[in-house]
Amino acid sequence: MRTDTNKPVSLCVLGATGSIGQSTLDIIRRNPHQYRLASASGFSNMKLMADICLEFRPKTIVVGSNSNAAQLKASLPSDVLPNIMVGNDALDELAADPRTSTLVAAIVGAAGLSSTLSAVRAGKRVLLANKEALVMSGALLMEAAKESGATLLPIDSEHNAIFQCLSDHRQRHCDLSEASEIKKVLLTASGGPFRGKSREELLQVTPSQALDHPNWSMGPKISIDSATMMNKGLELIEACWLFNLQAHQVEVVIHPQSFIHSMVEYIDGSVIAQMGLPDMRTPIAHALAWPERILSGVKSPIWSQLGPLTFEAPDLEAFPCLKLAIEALSAGGIAPTVLNAVNEVAVEAFIAEQISFMSIPDLVSEALAATENRSAVSVEAIMEADSWARAWARQHLK
Ligand code: NAD
Ligand code: MG
Repeated sequence: MRTDTNKPVSLCVLGATGSIGQSTLDIIRRNPHQYRLASASGFSNMKLMADICLEFRPKTIVVGSNSNAAQLKASLPSDVLPNIMVGNDALDELAADPRTSTLVAAIVGAAGLSSTLSAVRAGKRVLLANKEALVMSGALLMEAAKESGATLLPIDSEHNAIFQCLSDHRQRHCDLSEASEIKKVLLTASGGPFRGKSREELLQVTPSQALDHPNWSMGPKISIDSATMMNKGLELIEACWLFNLQAHQVEVVIHPQSFIHSMVEYIDGSVIAQMGLPDMRTPIAHALAWPERILSGVKSPIWSQLGPLTFEAPDLEAFPCLKLAIEALSAGGIAPTVLNAVNEVAVEAFIAEQISFMSIPDLVSEALAATENRSAVSVEAIMEADSWARAWARQHLK
């Protein structure tokens, strides 16, 4: 987004020390006259946070604990020292701060819900990476955006691709529920590191194998979600909320090369795809600059070396998480919150080698069966369901 004046856009990057955060900072680095990092958050890694402060000189920083704040303060010269705040309330406050017009929501998991909602309620331009927030509270977030006039732009690569495949008119009103010219949305998935493995083979896989994604370099949680295909399930829910679609209007297509990032099929037989090398700087740059374009540093494809682009159907038996997410979406209420919370606990336990890979879908499935569903009308109801599901999951880890 460029303003009419020559002043750079003031950005807030929540989750600046993570994978998406770092890609965002790289785009600011390449476009210093257009964007300025005004504020940021990082939960731990204070060494990286100090480097961010030294390079970008943000005015305000939120960190996870008092000891982190003390460590950061001690490592910075006084002329660079930002205002350092601590904790979740500070995150919410920073997200709503009127001194930044644009916010990148790149905290991982349910921890990002409250601050994302706070930025949306403040009517900002919100670049959404934190898909878990939308899975947990899709109705509330979309309603809040409507009320405040916030512009919600997806930077999850598939959703950004879908957005790019829409006409200008549809991009400005992303509600596709009445879009009679659209036949369906095709959500592509790489299939992750275990594509082609059977359920039996998946019983033996290790965290380091699961973390080794063939095409994308990402944070640990989303890497495991990609291996179980829960990521695609969360993304299907995300697509339904962002574009106001029903699950049956979205088809998941396995495309192992991750060159096509998603597609939209129109009633005249046209299928529009958005393509490019798998690098998150493309969707982030697109959403930052939309409706204009800026440099992202992403390389051009070498077409002669690209090789074949292939497509297949997902294997729902070996990767039941996708099916579980569709079930949770159609159940509605707190079911997607429970799915997300139990998945977060199970993924952590798998990374810590406490449970096997296939225990992740098993646990999510059992939790959904044990859930007494009710509506998710308020943040309080959602957070209560989240706490209940986490406690349930910890009790049932095996
Ligand atoms: P990451 O683990 O690399 O970074 C997460 C960030 O969140 C870090 O800055 C960390 O300090 C912060 N954080 C962690 N726990 C926190 C807590 N309890 N409170 C406050 N902050 C906390 O994760 P990532 O891969 O950058 O993913 C971030 C989000 O973007 C996720 O929702 C993910 O699904 C989504 N996303 C990521 C990619 C990708 O390529 N990495 C692609 C699409 C969507
Ligand atoms: Mg994605």
